[in-house]
Amino acid sequence: MGKLDGRVVIVTGAARGQGEQEARLFAAEGARVVLTDVLDDLGESVAKDIGEDRARYLRLDVGSEEDWAAVIRDAKETFGAVHGLVNNAGIARFGELADTSLEDFEQVVRVNQTGTFLGMRAVAPELAAAGGGTIVNIASLAGLLGLPHLISYTATKAAVIGMTRAAAVELAPRGIRVNAVCPGGIDTPMANPGGAPLADLDGFYRTLVPLGRIGRASEVAALALFLTSDDSSYITGQPFVIDGGWTAGARLTPEAAGVTNPPSPGGASS
Ligand code: NAD
Repeated sequence: MGKLDGRVVIVTGAARGQGEQEARLFAAEGARVVLTDVLDDLGESVAKDIGEDRARYLRLDVGSEEDWAAVIRDAKETFGAVHGLVNNAGIARFGELADTSLEDFEQVVRVNQTGTFLGMRAVAPELAAAGGGTIVNIASLAGLLGLPHLISYTATKAAVIGMTRAAAVELAPRGIRVNAVCPGGIDTPMANPGGAPLADLDGFYRTLVPLGRIGRASEVAALALFLTSDDSSYITGQPFVIDGGWTAGARLTPEAAGVTNPPSPGGASS
């Protein structure tokens, strides 16, 4: 028996990265999954690989109200109902605050923040009609910490955490749970656009993250599954950090910091 038997779940940004892993894992756990993205060729091929009986790809630009209406209509016609949504699609634009154009800022808001709002607004009536359901919003560590050169991304991910709380409180009486996931560094095209070898990435993250490596998309998918399944039946309105311990504290060793002769715990240098 799968953890999502009988459920129909929409995943945005499912053509690659974390969304792809979520779609694959949810289907393996018995869900029928509506994969959506703007990368049509990739999305189609992932859905085909999962199998026609379990997966369907639809184009959805998360910033478009019309696209959301069409996807909800299609999902209901094809699978009968909608029980879950993972608002996973996202983009990042790197740059100094002073160099960030209004156009760039608004583009990130449109996808990460408006897209999450439109998704929750579109599915909430469907989840209520199905007798309840789940929404998982993929936020980020950047919604909790200040990160340099990511002003628009940080703004939108903090907004996603805020909207998650507001929607959770409002939708709880209709049997709808809403939670957020806050990943740290995860090996996907967003954090690793050049496709650097995993060993190189792990080496970089070793100085930053207590668990000493970058996260894997499959690990975030496992958390999204937990929040979509009945395993989390008493949890709503919460941000879940999955970051290898990044926010727990610095892992920097004296050697990594370039300190060759650190003071001993007793105060005397050896
Ligand atoms: P990714 O770039 O591989 O995947 C993002 C997906 O979103 C892509 O398939 C892309 O085509 C899609 N997308 C972009 N704009 C869209 C739009 N307008 N409409 C629909 N789809 C659109 O990166 P990822 O790491 O898999 O990102 C997934 C989520 O995780 C994002 O919300 C991201 O902000 C978040 N996140 C990623 C990291 C990381 O280190 N990779 C860390 C924290 C949070």
